[in-house]
Amino acid sequence: MLLKQIIVRNFRNFADESFSFNSFLTIIIGENARGKTNLLESIYLTTQGEGFRESREDELIKFEQDQSVIQGTFNSGDSNFLFQINIKRTVIGVDKIFSINKTRKRNFQYQRETAKVVLFSPEQIEIMTGPPDKRRKYFNHLLSSFDMDYKKNLINYESALRKRNKILERYKDNEDLFNELSYWNDYLQKQAGYLTKKRQEYIDFLNQNARIDSKEFSINYLKNEFNQKRLEDNFDLEKRYRKTVIGPQKDDFEISLKNKTVKNLHHFGSRSEQRLAIFWLKFNEIRLYEDIFKTKPILLLDDVFSELDIKNKKLIIDLVKKYQTVVTTTEVELLELADVPKSVITL
Ligand code: ATP
Ligand code: MG
Repeated sequence: MLLKQIIVRNFRNFADESFSFNSFLTIIIGENARGKTNLLESIYLTTQGEGFRESREDELIKFEQDQSVIQGTFNSGDSNFLFQINIKRTVIGVDKIFSINKTRKRNFQYQRETAKVVLFSPEQIEIMTGPPDKRRKYFNHLLSSFDMDYKKNLINYESALRKRNKILERYKDNEDLFNELSYWNDYLQKQAGYLTKKRQEYIDFLNQNARIDSKEFSINYLKNEFNQKRLEDNFDLEKRYRKTVIGPQKDDFEISLKNKTVKNLHHFGSRSEQRLAIFWLKFNEIRLYEDIFKTKPILLLDDVFSELDIKNKKLIIDLVKKYQTVVTTTEVELLELADVPKSVITL
């Protein structure tokens, strides 16, 4: 599916604007704070149903407005598709209404039909440098985007975990505690089992596709299983901490570079090695969509060139030649290297 046009109304800093996109390469340029990243986010929103910054959803709506509309026109074969999201402010946050070709859809129906996108943004370096939570969020988000059961299991797991923790916080009597927990233990074990299995499958997929250029990566899944045996082993600890101490909410993932030795990149990687590791994850997202889902994703590149060395810049330019790409950049000359039809949006 190819992106043709985006219309935004009261979205972030845009009042009412329309933008057209090249089937090959569109370059968004403009001074700081003109809305380059916002425009990229609007594309992401029409395809993923949510923004890509870790902010509250009502921040997607322009300041002092109540409602925002984002419309994306996509093309596949001879047909055009109009994907639309209306976001309304409510007392507790926002209400989002999804539609395809003017017919209202539920969120999961909408997401099933939309184009796949792969986003590259500078903040993603936190997957390498940040705490385990950043890595869990990355994998949760990716797996949820193509596996609705994963998304459901994750939501169920998190909400049941909160209930189990409440019971541990309040308990007085040992006997009661054991009985009260047993229902939640069974329930959580089922949900956790699914999450652990799917995370493992994706980690196996990454390890089967370990190379990028001349470099070979590996990823180690440090799983924290939620099962009967571990529950029994940790029961005293849970009573002491009054909190669940095991389960996939404590998983971590460790990315290494294989050379003569295996080097953990979170601890020992140089900045450019860490960046390359992110590319490795991103290239595998592309591979996943192409190999498994037989669809070419649209690439969204937010300001990725500034910190890269020549070799890594070349890796990106090669990608740009193969997929529809929308890029925000200040280094326009660099993109001249990509020998494909291009248009420029100046903000
Ligand atoms: P840079 O070159 O620094 O990356 P940019 O062009 O990517 O800048 P954006 O991040 O897209 O800039 O932000 C553009 C402006 O939009 C910022 O000034 C930001 O404060 C503003 N903005 C963000 N959310 C809203 C909102 N809900 N309403 C109005 N303005 C907003
Ligand atoms: Mg920006």
